Amino acid sequence: MTTVGILGGGQLARMLALSGAPLGLRFLVLDSAADACAGQFAPMVVGDYTDQAALDEFASKIDVATFDFENVPAESAHWLAERRPVFPSPRALAVAQDRLAEKTLFRELDIPVPDFAAIDTRAALDQAIATIGTPCILKTRRLGYDGKGQFRIKTPADADAAWAALGPQADKVGLILEGFVRFERELSVVAVRGRDGEFRAWPITENWHVDGVLSASLAPARTDEALAATAISYARKLAEALDYVGVFALELFCRDGVLLANELAPRVHNSGHWTIEGSETSQFQNHLRAVLGLPLGDTRMLGVTCMLNWIGAMPDAGPVLSEAGGHWHDYGKSSREGRKVGHATLRADSAGELAQALQRVGERLGRQEQVAPVIERLA
Ligand code: ATP
Ligand code: MG
Ligand code: MG
Repeated sequence: MTTVGILGGGQLARMLALSGAPLGLRFLVLDSAADACAGQFAPMVVGDYTDQAALDEFASKIDVATFDFENVPAESAHWLAERRPVFPSPRALAVAQDRLAEKTLFRELDIPVPDFAAIDTRAALDQAIATIGTPCILKTRRLGYDGKGQFRIKTPADADAAWAALGPQADKVGLILEGFVRFERELSVVAVRGRDGEFRAWPITENWHVDGVLSASLAPARTDEALAATAISYARKLAEALDYVGVFALELFCRDGVLLANELAPRVHNSGHWTIEGSETSQFQNHLRAVLGLPLGDTRMLGVTCMLNWIGAMPDAGPVLSEAGGHWHDYGKSSREGRKVGHATLRADSAGELAQALQRVGERLGRQEQVAPVIERLA
């Protein structure tokens, strides 16, 4: 019996555990919150990622470790990797934890990126705003997620407010200034690389964010094949450079038909949730196969899918469940503003049928705004 240890017990760990059950896997989750939602399906060790007693217990009970959360302290990942196989490797994790290291690697690999500069002082911020121009975004290098730790600078006069908001964190998490990209669309590549180096990508996904949080995903993205092939080639280059094992997502902006890399998520990704029902093999299943050295599953799509994120509170399940291709995912979390509490996937055989299903669901849930950009894209 193989036990997979997961650092972090959120919905990603929960969906990994659900997906691993048919493979006969056992799971053990490490999280500091005793009520972490993966704990409803897997035993837990409750403790901080730096809590030595918790790490000792976790390591002693697992065969292999992986992550639901990329911000596990590097020392803890290294400590674990000396005792058990850990995938992705602590090195890949370290790069993806730091927006500066990540963007520097993108550049080294000839993957285009928005302009960026490391910011250590208030003076450096003014200098970088002058070089990069406005609008731009000041971000924490580490620990940001769901658009947290970001300040949008519209004019140079906003520098004071940006520094007041994020400057105090400069020493601890580092800061980076990025040019604001007026993109036509946001895309992501969700891909997997096995222990033996085999690489597979799912068809690329288009994503819509509201207030920095993913709201909807459409797969396959309605883009030309050359663009999709370029996006996947970037993902492959990155995976090979990092000797990456497991699933990851590369987030991209598309501006004037050119791709710019935003960030690398070293784990299963929200924009890949549609693969549970929309692909021959889900991202969760393939992540586990990769981590365990099993053959990777086919990443082909089964029709056209849209994923809708539920943020803050779960809506009524009825409208989605009454659709032929409707699927419901309630993460079993309590409601809280801005929190990802669940998602729905709508799957159809054609773009037209998917648009109609989205229209019905949007109307019945009073969420026309959420579905509108997807319906427009499907037209
Ligand atoms: P995630 O939850 O995806 O990990 P995050 O907190 O790491 O989010 P980003 O992905 O950097 O943050 O930013 C969140 C969203 O904000 C992006 O998907 C995009 O919509 C917008 N955004 C971020 N950086 C830029 C940029 N340089 N130009 C334009 N929009 C941006
Ligand atoms: Mg991120
Ligand atoms: Mg992101």
